[in-house]
Amino acid sequence: PVGIKKICCIGAGYVGGPTSAVIASKNPDIQVTVVDYNRERIEAWQTDDLPIYEPGLLEVVKFARDGNLTKRTPNLFFSTDVDRCIAEAELILLSVNTPTKSLGRGAGHASELSYLESAVRKIGEVAESNKIIVEKSTVPCRAADTLRDVLVATAKPGLHFEILSNPEFLAEGTAIRNLLNPDRILIGSLKTPRGLEAAQALAAVYGAWVDPDRIITINLYSSELAKLAANALLAQRISSVNALSAMCESVGADIDEVSYAIGLDKRIGSRMLKASVGFGGSCFRKDILSLAYIAESLHLFEVADYWRSIVDINEYQKDRFTRRIVRCLYNSLSGKTLAVFGFAYKKDTGDTRETAAITVIDNVLTEGANVRIYDPLVKETQIRHELKNTTARLDCAEKQLTVCESAYEACTGADAVIILTEWDEFSNQGEPVRRDSGHGRKTEERAGRKVDWARVAALMRRPMFVFDGRNIVDAGALEGLGFRVECIGKA
Ligand code: NAD
Repeated sequence: PVGIKKICCIGAGYVGGPTSAVIASKNPDIQVTVVDYNRERIEAWQTDDLPIYEPGLLEVVKFARDGNLTKRTPNLFFSTDVDRCIAEAELILLSVNTPTKSLGRGAGHASELSYLESAVRKIGEVAESNKIIVEKSTVPCRAADTLRDVLVATAKPGLHFEILSNPEFLAEGTAIRNLLNPDRILIGSLKTPRGLEAAQALAAVYGAWVDPDRIITINLYSSELAKLAANALLAQRISSVNALSAMCESVGADIDEVSYAIGLDKRIGSRMLKASVGFGGSCFRKDILSLAYIAESLHLFEVADYWRSIVDINEYQKDRFTRRIVRCLYNSLSGKTLAVFGFAYKKDTGDTRETAAITVIDNVLTEGANVRIYDPLVKETQIRHELKNTTARLDCAEKQLTVCESAYEACTGADAVIILTEWDEFSNQGEPVRRDSGHGRKTEERAGRKVDWARVAALMRRPMFVFDGRNIVDAGALEGLGFRVECIGKA
């Protein structure tokens, strides 16, 4: 197959940005342009204050984008000129969002494919040459057929579009590490000569840095389903451990010990077995609901119920955590102050989509608590935006909610600290925190710092509670400072 020289990535988000940056940095002969209609996002990608935070991302972006600094010809570009970049590219990565549908049939369950459809319509409209179209977005089974149908109907006659599935498996917070050293690269294609040739062309792009043994070429539809299945199984492990954590609290077992014991079994493995307040993020919930919806549309109702129960346990876990807070604080939060440590859905990311913090904060606001939130990375505008549509917000006064610049400011006068994100700086164990510079003032100021829990204790009202929704603190040490500590899955 002919080597690819120009790639256009549609969608400059958490997947499109980092993936394109790594592809460009490893393929100096390929010009990679990331396009998006969101002008603000594209402009931010052109600065050193990138629109998303990922450890190591800025270095990779600068390397490929700013040739003058590295004496390397720049080959990574960001643009809002979607039409031109599509027209010039031989290979197009579709990295647009595929959220849960909010209107009409399947609302709240099925995937919304309209962003993908409009991106593909645009390709059909402006293409003057054959193209390889790659599904990087997570899509329902047989989405490739839909895209092909739209392309055939909209494009100029005689042009050929080969559709590949190449799902992205990066995890936020470790995206660059995952992209540089992936467990596997999955490339799904039709088994036609043209399909196989396109798969080889894409494999060659990854082959610049990924071992050939890790580049797996499979059937197009297996590849689409494998991505949904992988996310469902990862989330299933978390819900299984969280379900066990509820039992631990009643029988006097310790979920961290149980997880450790189970994880030593090589068939099971130790990762993704950490109990918590519940998973968040833009993918797990939506992908499981999409998988369940597909099962239901195939009349596989028991299968759909099985997958949905993973999401049900997650909701149960968030509610259970809030109920414990209310119970410990003498069944009333009215007039009490709660310091929330962490708002991002997990550490080392500024992403707050579907974060468990939204549900927990909504619940405690409804109970009448004053809430003082501190997150090392997430900005106040984003926190307020996420909480805007919660039920509590409808009848709660704005004054119940304060977003703070430091953990100490959040704790002042508080009755309890609630840890909702496992940021290293909140833990009273382990090494001092190291974090890259380059994502706003907050990060640089706080790099290297850890919360001084003795100072926190001096600022709080008595009795003082810590509700550790991530099991990251050494409870014994905090109890020595006078805290009453409640962890997940520990009596
Ligand atoms: P995102 O919302 O951060 O980025 C999507 C971008 O696409 C947005 O900036 C949006 O403006 C742009 N866009 C939408 N329609 C467009 C169009 N027609 N033309 C140009 N730009 C358009 O989303 P994300 O988190 O990067 O996720 C993208 C896809 O990747 C989703 O399907 C998601 O399920 C999947 N995925 C995400 C992750 C993750 O960790 N976030 C991991 C693996 C897979």
